[in-house]
Amino acid sequence: MTASDHTPASPEEGASPTAGLDFIRAIVAEDLRAGRYSQIVTRFPPEPNGYLHIGHAKSIGINYGIAAETGGRFNLRFDDTNPETEDESYVQSIIDTVRWLGAEFGEVLYAADYFEDMFAFAEFLIGRGAAYVDSSSEEEIREARGTVTEPGFPTKHRDRSVEENLDLFRRMRAGEFPDGAHVLRAKIDLASPNMLLRDPLLYRIRHAHHYRTGDRWCIYPLYDYAHPIEDAIEGITHSLCTLEFDNNRAVYDWTIEHWQDFERSRGREPARPHQYEFARGNLDYTVMSKRKLLQLVQGGHVTGWDDPRLPTLAGLRRRGVTAEAVRAFWERMGVAKVNSRVDIGKLEYAIRDDLNQRAPRVLAVLHPLRVVLTNYPEGRTEELDAPYWPHDVPKEGSRMLPFGRELYIDRDDFAEEPPKGWHRLSPGAEVRLRYAYVIRCEEVVKDAAGEVVELRCTYDERTRGGTTPEGRQVKGTIQWVSAAHAVKAEVRLYDRLFTVPDPDAGEGDFKDYLNPASLVVVPGALVEPSVAADEPGSRYQFERLGYFYADPVDSRPGALVFNRTVTLRDTWAKAAEAPKPQPKAEKKPPKAEPGSSDAGQPRAPKAAVHDTSRPPELEARRTRYAAELGLTVADADWVTRDASTADLFDAAVAAGGSAKGVARWVIHELTRETAGRASDALPFAGRELGELVALVEDGTISASAGRTVLAEMAKNGGRPADLVESLGLRQVSDPGALAPVIDEVVAANAAKADEYRSGKTGLLGFFVGQVMRTPAGKAASPEMVKQMLEERLR
Ligand code: ATP
Ligand code: MG
Repeated sequence: MTASDHTPASPEEGASPTAGLDFIRAIVAEDLRAGRYSQIVTRFPPEPNGYLHIGHAKSIGINYGIAAETGGRFNLRFDDTNPETEDESYVQSIIDTVRWLGAEFGEVLYAADYFEDMFAFAEFLIGRGAAYVDSSSEEEIREARGTVTEPGFPTKHRDRSVEENLDLFRRMRAGEFPDGAHVLRAKIDLASPNMLLRDPLLYRIRHAHHYRTGDRWCIYPLYDYAHPIEDAIEGITHSLCTLEFDNNRAVYDWTIEHWQDFERSRGREPARPHQYEFARGNLDYTVMSKRKLLQLVQGGHVTGWDDPRLPTLAGLRRRGVTAEAVRAFWERMGVAKVNSRVDIGKLEYAIRDDLNQRAPRVLAVLHPLRVVLTNYPEGRTEELDAPYWPHDVPKEGSRMLPFGRELYIDRDDFAEEPPKGWHRLSPGAEVRLRYAYVIRCEEVVKDAAGEVVELRCTYDERTRGGTTPEGRQVKGTIQWVSAAHAVKAEVRLYDRLFTVPDPDAGEGDFKDYLNPASLVVVPGALVEPSVAADEPGSRYQFERLGYFYADPVDSRPGALVFNRTVTLRDTWAKAAEAPKPQPKAEKKPPKAEPGSSDAGQPRAPKAAVHDTSRPPELEARRTRYAAELGLTVADADWVTRDASTADLFDAAVAAGGSAKGVARWVIHELTRETAGRASDALPFAGRELGELVALVEDGTISASAGRTVLAEMAKNGGRPADLVESLGLRQVSDPGALAPVIDEVVAANAAKADEYRSGKTGLLGFFVGQVMRTPAGKAASPEMVKQMLEERLR
């Protein structure tokens, strides 16, 4: 391809310069390309009336992400125009949480600081006949607004003179009237099909103390009026909000247009922010409205705003989730224009994926059962070297595990009458103690009530480190701690807060669906001694049990408290899949349960952690994918979550994609492009997915072009190779073909190139856009274009 191919793109050509970008980033890229803005400015505008939840993290990620990627600015602004529900403590927690997420902002901004400007603008509107004081009651105003099928009609105050309006409005501010006596309304269109345009309220009287402005004001602006002004004052370019504000955009634009005239009348250059809406982040098995979260906090259903069961960011943080995991989760979910609920399993996946790389593996026992090794010398202790990391985590380090004659194992790992396929301990059977020895259970000791209180076992000294002599098979491996060295700990097993995916959709109150087992406290757990001196806030994987976090508030030396952040496997997906056999399997080893320290409490779905409930066929595939195909445990778990996904995976690998590559595409890209549709309900099969992955892996197309192809496949099906051709996505791997185009674009925009060189690096996005819309640019990876441009513009 040469520079002579350099013709402007037409929409029919398929691949656009913004291929691979979500729709908001595509708008931003186009605005930069067209030179509409020299710098992008976004904001996150929370109302300080509660703590932030994980949905807010989506908004923060998008707003901050776009500013950061384009060299723009990101503001944190409190939308604090409602004195009755807002509070300084919420302001502090929000600032703290936004920082924690890593979204960098300048000075903290407050809408309340703009009240004077908003008031002056309201006077301007009154002066030009675009606003009036209405003294009707709330009821009268509602009635006069009409319905969806009937137009509204004017109240008797609509035609008040400018003078009368100004006088009344100023006296409203001066505090002469009680709450509700008057409101200020915009004069727009009482017959508009958009109800929000039927003379919306701009100001109301509220004699209330405001946490920031005190008693200075007794009139407060409403959201639809205040928000666009806040954006305009700050020079916001893209005002991003959630879909439910769709209809509000008309009021937004009305306000901005008048505001621009107001600014000009004051001799100022007016800003022009635009509102765009994206889908709210919704998660199942939880509720996200601050009003409902407040009910849970105030009603004592949880311990506070940072209760680890809540979807608040403070709660997730206290549970042990990292900011990186939250960010990665939303990045993988993408940005869409259609609301949907996200499977909470995907959040849990992102958490595991993150913790896998950062949490060292240690041994812990939740429900201790004493084991005495009768052939191990009394008084002897040895130290066994145990690595902190599994082989698929590229980290090093180990600790010494003390081992002696008396140990504890988990009650759940012993069954007096084992079910079929039991690989753990039972009378006469052998099991491997992780990093230690193979032991055999010789005798079961019970108390007067018939409860198992001790196992007398023998160890095989030839199996030190867990190795077994050739020809001898020991299938099960379990964790243990040394009785003389283990440290006691309280373990808090957190689980989903609700028992149903959508607690708001059921009959009755959402609180009727609270999960009574969302917290199970295990007071007498034992943990290996290496953790005793660690800082609160340390993270671990307790092998076979899950990821745990030393509670930063309650844990202290000598009284350790660990929160379970997440189980090792998606225990709920399996529960939903195999509802029938499961209750039986749960009850099967009943002898193992009594006397455990949380007996009588509803059980967390713990049994599933020990592999008893997944259909054996899928379990076998999961093991094989991890062992033979080199998938991480979390990835193998994901792609075997149901049979159709596993089949899709197999077919894709057979069609030429690498196992790891296919897993990545199934987990991250497929989810995003298919909005969570079941794998067997897609308009393409595993073979096509595998072919696509192969095309990306052999460099025929870039990953972002691959996403474009996948989006097309998800819509209309088709073979990837054909789509690559018809969309013109074949990658230019030769920088030589791109160089002339880059020269041409830089030459054609010499002035901008100079600006860039003098420090306006935000213009890079503009140049990338220019190059990407040429045929040569379209076929290149944006990364390469960016790099070459940076080089050329240096
Ligand atoms: P809630 O309904 O939970 O009380 P809110 O929208 O009233 O939330 P705000 O403080 O007004 O809370 O929200 C600040 C910003 O966060 C807004 O721009 C809003 O659109 C965005 N936001 C709120 N909830 C979500 C969500 N679930 N997903 C994405 N963005 C959200
Ligand atoms: Mg709100």
